[in-house]
Amino acid sequence: MRTLGILGGMAWPSTLEAYRAINEQVNARLGGHRSAPLLICSLDFAEVEELQAAGDWDGAGALLADAAARLEAAGAQGLMLVSNTMHRVAEAIEARTTVPLLHLADATARRITADGVGRVGLLGTRFTMEQDFYRGRLEGHGLDVRVPPAPARDAVHRIIYDELVHGEVRDASRQRVLEIIGALEAQGAQGVISGCTEIELLVGPEHLDTGWYPTTAIHAEAAVDWILGA
Ligand code: GLU
Repeated sequence: MRTLGILGGMAWPSTLEAYRAINEQVNARLGGHRSAPLLICSLDFAEVEELQAAGDWDGAGALLADAAARLEAAGAQGLMLVSNTMHRVAEAIEARTTVPLLHLADATARRITADGVGRVGLLGTRFTMEQDFYRGRLEGHGLDVRVPPAPARDAVHRIIYDELVHGEVRDASRQRVLEIIGALEAQGAQGVISGCTEIELLVGPEHLDTGWYPTTAIHAEAAVDWILGA
């Protein structure tokens, strides 16, 4: 098996889910006492959030690139970053490391196109929904990406930063997010991307009629394929 380095703590609840999913799937495929060879570098989310809020993406890139270099030096043969938003600095990470970064948006887009879905809604932080680094990457796979209107984007962003990154899951917020998903579906979205690694703590496929693309789970499956050399 290949050793994967996980850049985590952005925020910690989704790192926990990715760690669990990767180990469960490696064990399901290999059996016995097998589990995944992993290195985890879990950052202090306060530092990351401050740089995001200040729009200091160079500083954020330096912070994550440093963490990635430490993972590589410790023996990671590949890297995954458990945050959609922080893929904003994927190029800074790739510039400081020689091992592959398993890009979350590519794994997600591959899953969606394999399902024959072309028009998708995107939920995530304001950075992910509004900037080009993520939408553009999905569009590069031929997807037509739709985001909610500004008040709904604000609501999703607030739910992520005030609740989900702390591991808080509230029914009222689930209802609000489901209304937003319903509006995306009414506008023709054939599926919706949970483009924040914590949103899937709140919403699951059981809550939707259309396709649901939970990025932590999809990324974890791609990571398992890579660990097993598939
Ligand atoms: N985990 C989130 C994401 O996937 C948001 C927290 C962060 O800003 O990293 O975008």
